[in-house]
Formats: sequence, structure tokens, C-alpha cells
Amino acid sequence: MADAARIEQFRKMASDDPTNELAHFSLGKALLDSGDYQAAADSLRRAIGLNANISKVYQLLGQALLKLGDQPSAIATFTEGVGVADRRGDLLNKNDMLACLKELGAPAPETKPTGPAVVAGEGEVFCRRCGRPGPKLEKPPFRSAFGQEIYHNTCTKCWKDAIGMGTKVINELRLPMADPQAQKMWDQHIREFLAL
Ligand SMILES: [Zn+2]
Repeated sequence: MADAARIEQFRKMASDDPTNELAHFSLGKALLDSGDYQAAADSLRRAIGLNANISKVYQLLGQALLKLGDQPSAIATFTEGVGVADRRGDLLNKNDMLACLKELGAPAPETKPTGPAVVAGEGEVFCRRCGRPGPKLEKPPFRSAFGQEIYHNTCTKCWKDAIGMGTKVINELRLPMADPQAQKMWDQHIREFLAL
């Protein structure tokens, strides 16, 4: 799909359903890729307003702000993002944003040395999207590695939300689900939504 067409689709998703955080996130990411940094920053800020728990959004927003020449805001965003990534155990995003801060000559925020501080109890799972323990799914939703990944990292409520979001994505983008390419795209959206 061409960039402009994708951006248009995400823009439509975001305006049809302003509370759809994934639409704002995907729109922001597509705008960032296309070089429209101000619009990207606006969309990514909306995504954070809807869900402040997705560390990847801070990473992208920080990049957009750097491109706009706003170093102080980029540093503030990366610093906040490191905190989110740290709480949620998103090691990859955390290290990436720490590296950005270092490159900018900004001080590194205090972080925990290892893993999530909160441990999931009996029948619970540490949900990557909520950033805290929640009720576990009864069984993996698919018989694939992706199904296992969801089962071990997603609470029941977020999985229900993801199904709702996934249905919107299929309808909005008119994905032909028999097409492996479309299946891949759906997986990617779900993955981003669940912060996997
Ligand atoms: Zn959850």
C-alpha cells in the first residue's frame, strides 16, 4: 500500500473513532515515516492521551520532536518513555530511548535493574498492555507461537479489547483475511495494540 493511501486510511479510522488509540498510533507512525513530523507529533500525543502505557509511542514522538528541532521536548518525552518502558519491562524500547538521551547529552533517568517489579499471582498474567497483572486467558487464542505469546503476556480484558480493535481494522482497511499478507497486517496491528 502506498504511503499516502495508508495515511488516508488511518486518518479516516482516527476521525471515525477518535478514541481508537491504535488508529492515532498507526497514523502517527505513518506520518513520521513520510516526513510530516508536526502532524506525526500531534497524532502520537493523542495516542498517549488515550493510553499512556505504550512505550513505543514515546520513542516515536521523541524522534518526531527531534526532527522538528525541539530538543527539550524530545528529552522530556524520552525521559518519560524510559519510565514507562521500565515499569512495563519493555527492555528494547527502554535501551533505545536511553541511548537517545545519552546521544543528546541528557541525564539518564533512574531505572530498575531487572524485570517488572509486580509479579503476577495465581491465575494472573503480567499484561504488557496494562503494565500490571490481570486475569489470564483460559487458553491460548490461537494454536500458533503468536497465540502463546498473547496467552503469556495479555490479560483477558485487553484480549477482548484487541478483538474489538481487530474487527475495526479488518472492516476499515477491508482486509481480505484469506490473504496471508492481510493476515500479517492484522497480526501486526494486534501486536502493536497489545504492546507485544
Ligand atoms: Zn491488560
